[in-house]
Amino acid sequence: MRNVVIIGSGPAGYTAAIYSARANLNPLLIAGLEVGGQLSTTTIVENFPGFPEGIMGPDLMEAMRKQAVRFGGEVLQAYVSKVDCSRRPFLISTDDQEIEAKTLIICSGASARLLGLESEKKLIGYGVSTCATCDGYFFRGKEIIVVGGGDSAIEDAIFLTRFAGKVSVVHRRNHLRASKIMQDKAFSNPKIQFIWDAVVEEVYDVGARTVRGVKLRNLKTGEVHDFPCDGVFVAIGHTPNTAIFEGQLEMDPNGYILTHDGCKTNIPGVFAAGDVQDSVYRQAISAAGSGCMAAIDAERYLEHHG
Ligand code: NAP
Repeated sequence: MRNVVIIGSGPAGYTAAIYSARANLNPLLIAGLEVGGQLSTTTIVENFPGFPEGIMGPDLMEAMRKQAVRFGGEVLQAYVSKVDCSRRPFLISTDDQEIEAKTLIICSGASARLLGLESEKKLIGYGVSTCATCDGYFFRGKEIIVVGGGDSAIEDAIFLTRFAGKVSVVHRRNHLRASKIMQDKAFSNPKIQFIWDAVVEEVYDVGARTVRGVKLRNLKTGEVHDFPCDGVFVAIGHTPNTAIFEGQLEMDPNGYILTHDGCKTNIPGVFAAGDVQDSVYRQAISAAGSGCMAAIDAERYLEHHG
């Protein structure tokens, strides 16, 4: 029986582990399939306070892991396949074991949706990005494309004009899904152009480990052409990793866990932190902050409920 089980090994999970370990709660963190979370797939992180020269995403996550372990946090390399929050203690199932927990902190994050191209995957962190806030700064004076037609894509495109020389929004239809006010802002921005009815079929140049352009297909005419650019921002939405909690925890219509009064969910003793409950800020530092809050919430819950 564990006092605290934490699901997920991103900044929220490791911060929750550091705080609950230092509160002598001997937490168990179950790392999941993508150990280190979204930052483990990025290169340099320049906006995490405390690193004036920046730090590589995987190094930052490894440092967080070590910090959690140093204070007695246990890290289990496993994937949680099932959770039963209807019984006490809660029951967490991995592929080969079942773990009981008095409190549960869910930090399973959200995954940025990708186009599904092999070249896109290989160039993530080398010119392909899913986070304009994180990576826009690296594209000063460059030409970039943003894929998508929702609020995220348009917000990213507008934000990226602060750095880029030109931003081309590639959208698969000829109507944006984004709100009217965002559309108006984008249409009146001289640095933004739109490439309608188009999809990205390839990102160049995997061999050179840098983005040199994309292959675009016009879905109406079938015409294919190469489009030179220095960066590709994929902004086609995120999927919160909450499937195993469906029917147990209250969620918004997009599947993000609803929290209240800090990191509390609708089930007492179950807390959520990081991107799994945040579709707005989605930053490593805000995730870490909420991981700290969840650990303190869990500690207080245990004080009252034993
Ligand atoms: P979204 O609204 O679901 O939009 C996703 C966009 O990506 C759509 O335009 C969609 O095209 C396109 N897309 C999806 N899969 C694709 C694929 N495989 N290939 C090419 N294009 C693809 O997601 P979001 O923009 O991340 O927004 C999520 C939620 O957060 C929304 O409710 C949004 O309003 C909100 N949000 C609000 C703000 C704000 O108010 N400032 C900022 C960001 C997000 P189709 O249009 O053809 O489906």
